[in-house]
Amino acid sequence: MNKTAIPSAGGYWLRDARVMACLLDAPVGPVDGEGLCRVDLRIEARLIADIAPAGTAAEGIPLRGGQVWPCFVDGHTHLDKGHIWPRSANPDGSFKGALETVAADRDRHWAALDVAARFEFGLRCAWHHGTGAIRTHIDSEGARTSSSWEVFSRLREDWAGRVSLQAASIASLEIFTGEEGARLANLVARHGGVLGMVTTLQDGPVPDWFQPALERFFALAEERGLDIDLHVDESGASGARALREIALTALRRGFKGKIQCGHCCSLSMQPEDYARETIAACAEAGLSVVVLPMCNLYLQGRAPGRTPRWRGVTLVHELKAAGVPVSLASDNCRDPFYAYGDHDMVEVFRESVRILQLDHPFGDWARAVTAVPADVMGLSEMGRLRKGARADLVLFPARGMTELLARPQSDRIVLRAGRVQQSELPDYRELDAVLGLGA
Ligand SMILES: [Zn+2]
Repeated sequence: MNKTAIPSAGGYWLRDARVMACLLDAPVGPVDGEGLCRVDLRIEARLIADIAPAGTAAEGIPLRGGQVWPCFVDGHTHLDKGHIWPRSANPDGSFKGALETVAADRDRHWAALDVAARFEFGLRCAWHHGTGAIRTHIDSEGARTSSSWEVFSRLREDWAGRVSLQAASIASLEIFTGEEGARLANLVARHGGVLGMVTTLQDGPVPDWFQPALERFFALAEERGLDIDLHVDESGASGARALREIALTALRRGFKGKIQCGHCCSLSMQPEDYARETIAACAEAGLSVVVLPMCNLYLQGRAPGRTPRWRGVTLVHELKAAGVPVSLASDNCRDPFYAYGDHDMVEVFRESVRILQLDHPFGDWARAVTAVPADVMGLSEMGRLRKGARADLVLFPARGMTELLARPQSDRIVLRAGRVQQSELPDYRELDAVLGLGA
């Protein structure tokens, strides 16, 4: 596959492509055992003008059976924290080490220029890899909060038309018992954001403040018509059971907005019956779950000198089977919560397939990095292959799924509005000055 073969003007056909049938509105021809079907795609006037059975086009660019995906949607990231690792490494890879190290780095360093440089570095990685939309969380406790939200708003504008950006707050649930919660909800509403918080329940009885704080949190979102996006039960403690309380609270209140819950790791440590009931409540409440397998695998089950015994992830198959929309996303990149990562949704999908066994069959899991998060973010025109949609596509030489998932797909070609994207991954050295590192 050769970039230069794709015209920089006029319409053209991409011939003999494979596409995941679950990303089409309806299958175009026979679907193979991996969920792929063979098509020709017509690109015209920046759009997908036609998706026809392979063999339709008399001429065009031959993809020789290579896969075509829509640009990806990354529904849970932390662009404000990204890439601080060289300056503030997690001392032991633990969750506690991550919390403490990030808080200290934030208070000391997160001036607008620092956040903007790292935030945009992450965006450029995502852009290069073929992502079309991102939701980031923004640390929203302490003196840096409004400055970080202003950075987000400015970059959302700068990147409009390239990467659609959304933001959700992240702050501890406790603050919503007081005035700080209302102030934060106002700030989020002013920036067109999503109201978010993190639940910190562990083993033991639910503390008295928990339910009133949750009610107040929902009320603040309702009063401002905000969607909500939460970090929930991100631990291996079987007593961390906020997910059910969130679902039941949403049902009781008849909450009208969208709810996304991230992580929910402890669900997989709970008794089967209890977990099944929680999942049923989630399905009834219409909430969606976003899973962050790379970050969970890194942080959960970690203890010095002890081999981890679990993968740290929630019950994705059971949630999906119950009708809960499940997305897969990046989460942190090169910060104390995850030392690695590059906002590459191909890596996220590849690692998720391996960690969560999303294979044999692959089913419609391709939607978990495309159409499902697009719907959660209210961007239903994205993340699918549809006639009339903008031709934002990722072309892979890989034909079947093992070819796609065995290699990093560094030779993919990204099309934006039907034209080849010319981009390079940013060099880490660009961040040296901002991170206070010598050459
Ligand atoms: Zn997160």
